[in-house]
Amino acid sequence: MTQRGRLVVISGPSGAGKTTVCRALRRDPRVQFSVSATTRRKRDGEVDGVDYRFLTQAGFDAALARDEFLESATYNGNRYGTLRAPMEEALAAGRVFVLEIEVQGTRQLRARGVDGIYVFVVPPSLAELERRIRARGQNTEEEIADRLRIAEEELRAKDLYDHVIENDDLDRALAEVRRVIGL
Ligand code: 5GP
Repeated sequence: MTQRGRLVVISGPSGAGKTTVCRALRRDPRVQFSVSATTRRKRDGEVDGVDYRFLTQAGFDAALARDEFLESATYNGNRYGTLRAPMEEALAAGRVFVLEIEVQGTRQLRARGVDGIYVFVVPPSLAELERRIRARGQNTEEEIADRLRIAEEELRAKDLYDHVIENDDLDRALAEVRRVIGL
């Protein structure tokens, strides 16, 4: 019998380097990433079904009504949700299944007692976080202000996680993430 896989939840404020850490993890063949559903607009270079399943509000509501989500949340005015079916399949096949989600979603998973390894990637400081978001050049001033406000709020949720990893240096942070998830 195949051993059941493990669920890994990775969160962290926008700009903390969570996405970069996850990009490196994606290269590991033992790892499968959850493809979330979202109502946000597709960014340049994103592919439907690979980065996200891009849904309309009505499509998202319908999936919610069919109870297809393990958790779902609204973030910065857009809706996001983790689909149950691919996760069940990956865990049954013994894979490491990674959810890259925000804090409200993690809260729902904890409330439901979902077993997993919960990892929080944090920036060295809020000032450094602001610098990184600006350097990325993808957001308007209003979005930057929103993201910083959300980040400050999110940093308070660190107690939800088993491991809080400070991303002062990407290679070091990545090595630590690998270690805590057993890769
Ligand atoms: P972005 O729009 O920048 O891709 O993602 C915004 C935030 O939503 C990020 O913190 C990302 O981790 C989170 N997110 C992505 N998919 C999901 C999901 O399925 N559920 C929840 N709760 N958050 C998600």
